[in-house]
Amino acid sequence: MFDTLSERLSGTLANLRGKGRLSEADIDATAREIRIALLEADVALPVVRGFVARTKERAKGAEVSGALNPAQQVVKIVNEELVSVLGGETRRLRFSKEPPTVIMLAGLQGSGKTTLAGKLAFWLKSQGHTPLLVACDLQRPNAVTQLQIVGERAGATVFAPHPGASAAGHQTQPGSAERNGVGDPVDVARRGVAHARDKMYDVVVVDTAGRLGVDEELMRQAADIRDAVRPDETLFVVDAMIGQDAVATAEAFRDGVGFTGVVLTKLDGDARGGAALSVREVTGQPILFASDGEKLENFDVFHPDRMASRILG
Ligand code: GDP
Repeated sequence: MFDTLSERLSGTLANLRGKGRLSEADIDATAREIRIALLEADVALPVVRGFVARTKERAKGAEVSGALNPAQQVVKIVNEELVSVLGGETRRLRFSKEPPTVIMLAGLQGSGKTTLAGKLAFWLKSQGHTPLLVACDLQRPNAVTQLQIVGERAGATVFAPHPGASAAGHQTQPGSAERNGVGDPVDVARRGVAHARDKMYDVVVVDTAGRLGVDEELMRQAADIRDAVRPDETLFVVDAMIGQDAVATAEAFRDGVGFTGVVLTKLDGDARGGAALSVREVTGQPILFASDGEKLENFDVFHPDRMASRILG
């Protein structure tokens, strides 16, 4: 990911090296190249415009100081602007002072929510937490079973609807293979959280249903679950490979359900990076985690500064 962007930006910035001072024309030319690099990486147009305008303004206004030559100064500005667009400071997951902390996952079908639930549980366990996964995706055939499989891999317990029962819920230990049952996802979510409270799980991860596209019923169901369990964090899970569409989808979820953070999945795909670079600025919500593969370990806290360094090489 970011290969083309990285290559282009590094090339552009390398061209400035060796120049004693930068003329306005040098800065304009650099700004144009940065613009093209960002557009090619599928970054949303308003984000590109803001990024280029700020970089240009800062480069033109930069004092020539003793420590950095003009080219280094531009590199520094681009780096700082990348960090800022990616969210600035690392935003950590917020835990409730009164456990359990409730984390709800929302996103389109196929965005990687269920896979992420397992990764998140695995990560939470590595941080000393005792997570409970709650299976509220009762729409997609086998979603409950899939969550039980990832839960088992992560060594986390899954709370799933009772097969065939509409409002019952019960927990399945890692290793059990319950069949999907029809139930009310709002009720399952509520019971899952109550179960966590009873059994002293300190974090609840609620997996919700997604559709292939944004639709009203999906939003209503997610909003109903949100109202029922009042999550401490609602994480919007988005497949980085969908590029520009990530922004429109994020806006729809922000308006329909609301979320407190973003998780980027499939960063290992041949994504050009546009989603990562756009979603923070467009939605105003931070990226909390990044996921880049199918293994449980392919997951980490998102660090804007490290990502910016990766882009600039
Ligand atoms: P859900 O419908 O949102 O629950 O999505 P799933 O968790 O079922 O994921 C959809 C597909 O994407 C599955 O085939 C996953 O194995 C795959 N997947 C999920 N996360 C990643 C990732 O970070 N990288 C890659 N390459 N594939 C992923």
